[in-house]
Amino acid sequence: MGLHHHDEVVLLLGAPGAGKGTQARFLADTLGIPHVASGELLREHRAMGTDLGVLAQEYMDRGDLVPDAVVVDMIADRLDEPDAEHGALLDGFPRTLAQAEALERRLADRGGEVRTAIYVEVPTDVLIERLAGRWMCRVCQTAYHEVFNRPTVAGVCGACGGELYQRPDDKREVVSNRVAVYLRDTHPVVERYARAGVLKRVDGNQSIEAVKDALLEAVGQDAAIPA
Ligand code: AMP
Repeated sequence: MGLHHHDEVVLLLGAPGAGKGTQARFLADTLGIPHVASGELLREHRAMGTDLGVLAQEYMDRGDLVPDAVVVDMIADRLDEPDAEHGALLDGFPRTLAQAEALERRLADRGGEVRTAIYVEVPTDVLIERLAGRWMCRVCQTAYHEVFNRPTVAGVCGACGGELYQRPDDKREVVSNRVAVYLRDTHPVVERYARAGVLKRVDGNQSIEAVKDALLEAVGQDAAIPA
């Protein structure tokens, strides 16, 4: 009837450093929906020097959130692309109650809803250690860690061959602000979906493989079948 059916909107919630980005591509592929990461989209805008990228820069460098209206429009545009017609895995969005409400209104207009919100839980001290040792691919944004998840070749992305760099917002001073912003602005979003009865909690303080299996269970898929 010409309506889009966003029947598979799955949210991946968790603090910075919880491992959302590391798991998201694989999870999206498993679910057969695109991976839509607000932080990645914003970094792409910055790299391209768009107006949005220029506006976002100062917020991102401080570890503050980019204003809701801007991020909501960016995600709405992304969800209008044909590959997202049947849903998406949203990573890093919504980060505030206002963003969550805007998303829910948009989905409701199209007969859709948030099907599942997955919360990847990691203790704060572990988050800070992970972020401070993180290296990221400039090209495909795959994350590595200098101790816990080393690239096979130092400085080179194992997925695409791109150059690895340390995100400026992974500096220790900025990291603690990002975690504080998360607790103040984003944790209420987690509580909202817990109250709505759609929250699935996953212990993110385990190996990458163990978290992957827990995520598959959370979305009702079988554990990973070795390739
Ligand atoms: P991330 O890659 O998810 O850690 O995001 C990096 C930065 O982009 C954040 O620290 C924010 O400054 C900004 N950002 C990403 N997603 C959002 C969002 N949903 N709302 C506001 N700002 C965001």
